[in-house]
Amino acid sequence: MTHLSGLPRQVVIREVGLRDGLQILPRTVPTAAKLEWIRDAYDAGQREMELGSFVPAHLLPQLADTDKLLAYAKTLPGLKASVLVPNLKGAERAMECEADSMLLPLSASHAHSLANLRKTPDQVIEIIARIRDARDAQGSHTRIEVGISTAFGCTLQGRVEPAEVVRLVKAAIDAGAEAIGLADTVGYADPTMVRSLFEAVLPIAGDKLNCGHFHDTRGLGMANVYAALQAGISRFDACLAGIGGCPHAPGASGNVATEDLAYMLASMNIETGQDFNALLALRRKIARWLDGEPLHGALARAGLPKTMLQERAE
Ligand code: ZN
Repeated sequence: MTHLSGLPRQVVIREVGLRDGLQILPRTVPTAAKLEWIRDAYDAGQREMELGSFVPAHLLPQLADTDKLLAYAKTLPGLKASVLVPNLKGAERAMECEADSMLLPLSASHAHSLANLRKTPDQVIEIIARIRDARDAQGSHTRIEVGISTAFGCTLQGRVEPAEVVRLVKAAIDAGAEAIGLADTVGYADPTMVRSLFEAVLPIAGDKLNCGHFHDTRGLGMANVYAALQAGISRFDACLAGIGGCPHAPGASGNVATEDLAYMLASMNIETGQDFNALLALRRKIARWLDGEPLHGALARAGLPKTMLQERAE
């Protein structure tokens, strides 16, 4: 098997469509359809999924069934389920439901942090410390993951200083974060920025820095993944059909499309464990469940190239 030196041999793609994808859509996908989604994604080889968010149901009715999805995910052997939690209350629910991982968003942009959570980034750090204390006191096994959102820029504030991202990563780890991801929430990153920010954070975070979250708002999502791969990152968030959009840019594409990312990695001989036909079959169901919403992604339009079809037939 040929392999480019320096790149990871295996990559984990975490499906975040059920959370990042659905949370900005005005419609609510029925729980039964979401359970089918989880089952099909699992059968397609996906072993990490972000299933929803523990925020008050009136704020995000689309994600109000997160506890039911988690309960179902627990029945699928080897599936790691994560949920987003904005505060201690959400974290308590994640631990009650025995989520494998809870993701705390920490905005590197002060303006975004205040607008979204009505807290400064440093106040969020204090919450992370309280969540870590609560987790340890309970003996819970739910892992604490911090996602640095707007790490590459922000629609409200504009520029976000890399030095501020580095400072917040250090503070988050000191507060008890066990894993760190960098997120380009609004699609401002380019591959040069990605490589340089991941390389700036790595000496502080080491192995804890293990996730890249890229939105394809301006078409650079896949190039940004590649830049992070070059920095040694081997875990990425993605949404089937590239759903998710951007609340500040109507019609814009969302996260990198899972199926396109799985294709790129397979073409580069990097293992992801994902089955294209199963992913594309699930995508067709998602198109039905989200009838009328714009979907994104190139593989679904173009199909696999003949070279890969031949390889797969051998
Ligand atoms: Zn996102």
